[in-house]
Amino acid sequence: MATQTKDYYSTLGVKRGATAEEIRKAFRKLARRYHPDVNPNDKRAEEKFKEISQANDVLSDEKKRKIYDQVGFYSDSIDPAAAEAAARGGYGAGFGGGGFPGGARVGGRGGQEVPFDFGGFDFSDFQSSGGHGRGGAQEQAGGGFGGSFKDIFGGMFSGGHKARGPRPGTDLEYQVSVDFWSAVRGGVARLEIQRQEVCPACKGKSTMGGGSECPECHGTGQVTQMGGRMKFNIQCPRCGGTGKQQQGCPTCNGEGVVARREPLEFRIKAGTRDGQRIRLAGRGNAGTDGGAAGDLFLIVKVGTHPVFTRVADDIHVTVPVTMTEAALGAKIDVPTIDTHDGGGRTQLKIPPGTQTGQKLRLREKGVPSASREGMRGDEIVEVRIVVPHVQDERSKEILRELAKLNPEDPRAELLGEV
Ligand SMILES: [Zn+2]
Ligand SMILES: [Zn+2]
Repeated sequence: MATQTKDYYSTLGVKRGATAEEIRKAFRKLARRYHPDVNPNDKRAEEKFKEISQANDVLSDEKKRKIYDQVGFYSDSIDPAAAEAAARGGYGAGFGGGGFPGGARVGGRGGQEVPFDFGGFDFSDFQSSGGHGRGGAQEQAGGGFGGSFKDIFGGMFSGGHKARGPRPGTDLEYQVSVDFWSAVRGGVARLEIQRQEVCPACKGKSTMGGGSECPECHGTGQVTQMGGRMKFNIQCPRCGGTGKQQQGCPTCNGEGVVARREPLEFRIKAGTRDGQRIRLAGRGNAGTDGGAAGDLFLIVKVGTHPVFTRVADDIHVTVPVTMTEAALGAKIDVPTIDTHDGGGRTQLKIPPGTQTGQKLRLREKGVPSASREGMRGDEIVEVRIVVPHVQDERSKEILRELAKLNPEDPRAELLGEV
């Protein structure tokens, strides 16, 4: 069963000699009419849109158009020199006349060799009219140049069909909130993600296998394409050369994957930091047709705590200290993350003369490091001096006396600098 060469000019409704501007206008006009957005769920419009897009893709590109004009097809694999030679050789769509002197020439026998493979050609027409008998090119069908005709032209005829073969799944990224303590101590986080998983109906193949014969090629996997006076046997565009009817899987609409929401539970390592990326290899979107799954990345958002502020592996805490404790020095109890776990109280020595805002360090009382085994951060205690609310006369008397005994002016330096 023969298919016809696609006439891109008539697809766009322009003359063969149309200018680039005419082609552009024609395409835009048709595209507006057939665009899938304007015709939702209209299969015919969708097909039409694919056709005009394909035609425009070739005709709007000067180089592609030239090749198309020369051989009556377009494929990225066609070398312009080969197209040129083919045009001179006088075959192809509408090239008529001129016989076919290029059999030997194009095939690389005794003449200019061009990177053009004729494997898959049916030369019967040519042989009967040209009288070459066993054409040199016929022998090339066995694969003289590597790559076959269907590789070269395959892409063009399968327009609209998805590329077959494994395709990898994409990565996923989710933000996951983890409370302060789970991040410090480690724990389990749960969330629900939506990912594409291999379609259970078609096992990711996108098609239902289909034992039935392809109606276009009758199971041979090949169809005959006319190019001018030449016949070409090409891979059947309908079944992709399998010879079997490729029925899109109804469960996944031929996508090979289905979206599914699924609960996810994963371990949070002790010391996990805010903004940390956790990679779960192979837990991203499933690939199709045996392609590898993508990865799942979880971005940890660590919750806050009313008392403790975390800076990397250090814990910052502000502790109120009385004026007397700060002046005379003291040993005070301070909260640490160990206190929360019943790990006893931690004493901090306040040196005499401690000022408000001063920071004291408690070594290794911070968060266990997630990356360095056995290491811990520090706790940084910021002292905040609380001034007593004196009510009674006796206390006021004592403070006045204290001031008299210590007549220092804390602003002297400040005023002196201005
Ligand atoms: Zn499916
Ligand atoms: Zn077929």
